[in-house]
Amino acid sequence: MSAVATGQPSGRTTPAEQALLDARYGELAARDRLLPIKVPAFYQLKLDQELAALGHTEGPLHRMVRPTRDRFTARAGHEVADWVDDRSNMPVPGSQTIIHKYADRVLFMPTSVCAGHCQYCFRQDVLTDAHADERAVVVRELDHLVAYLGSKPEVSEVILSGGDPLTLPLRDLELIFRRLRALPQIRSIRIHSRTLAFAPKIFGDPAKIDLLAEADVRLVFHFAHPYEVCDDVREVLSRLAARRIRLYNHFPLLRGVNDHVDVLRRLVEDLDDARVRTLSVYLPEPIHHSAPYRLTLDRILALQDALTASTPSWINAIRFTLDSPVGKARREHITAWDRATGRVTFEKDGKSFVYPDFPSELDVPGERDVLLWRG
Ligand code: SF4
Repeated sequence: MSAVATGQPSGRTTPAEQALLDARYGELAARDRLLPIKVPAFYQLKLDQELAALGHTEGPLHRMVRPTRDRFTARAGHEVADWVDDRSNMPVPGSQTIIHKYADRVLFMPTSVCAGHCQYCFRQDVLTDAHADERAVVVRELDHLVAYLGSKPEVSEVILSGGDPLTLPLRDLELIFRRLRALPQIRSIRIHSRTLAFAPKIFGDPAKIDLLAEADVRLVFHFAHPYEVCDDVREVLSRLAARRIRLYNHFPLLRGVNDHVDVLRRLVEDLDDARVRTLSVYLPEPIHHSAPYRLTLDRILALQDALTASTPSWINAIRFTLDSPVGKARREHITAWDRATGRVTFEKDGKSFVYPDFPSELDVPGERDVLLWRG
């Protein structure tokens, strides 16, 4: 019987076994409302290189977009569907595209489409529930947003997220920017996007870069591994930087993908060379099916310390952040840690929440030689 059928892995995952995992994942995704596998051609080339170098499909790039063996077995307990409580922060009745959690900024999700699908995605439940991507929907939801902002003059920033806003057609982006820039209260339009890692060709149209520059947006990428910052990506970044578009990165800390200080350091250094400033490293949230990617809090804090100890101050400023039901929390917000039960209490602005730590027996660190297979 195969390792897949028994659930007892032996050796590394072969391409044939990966094909079985992919098929089995299709059933799991349909049952548990997870995103289906979607790997753009550009990223597939990188997967092919990774497979050729390693001889198996357990490399960091594969782990981001293809299901691993432990996708079907690893469960950590205390996992929830919506850790950050997005659904309680949707203020417009009937709309699932507007999230208002912090007084000064609003999240707008004009599309549920992404250029590729990440296995670790923290927002799968919202995306799989999301609206159809038709122009009428974008226009209607934009109307909702503009009306809502009219009632909230304290909001000065709109964050476009999704889905991936940069998969939208130019005319939709143009419409969104025009309507938002017509509001004097809006000082900043921020776009969260992984499109550049998945499909840099989307930036091939100079009109798109013109539009982003004219709208004076901030682009926040989600590069999670240094091999995502390749020459094609650097070429686009240099064109964006030449137009003086402000470029940032934040990314999740993921077991088996980037859970080694050498990977983290290389990623933020490569991005800095490309004029991209890394802001935050996000802790994986304890949502359903997150166990293959989570780490113990002890190991997360040790990685943060190792990065701080071995890097210059511009890297030291990167914040390790846990998104939570009460907002963004960091290590200084920990007020109690019950090691017997794994319950960690965070307190921020007078509000507290309990974070279930990841069980140490499940936390098998990524191996440096696999994580950095190019050496
Ligand atoms: S690009 Fe972002 S929103 Fe889309 S699947 Fe990946 S993590 Fe989720």
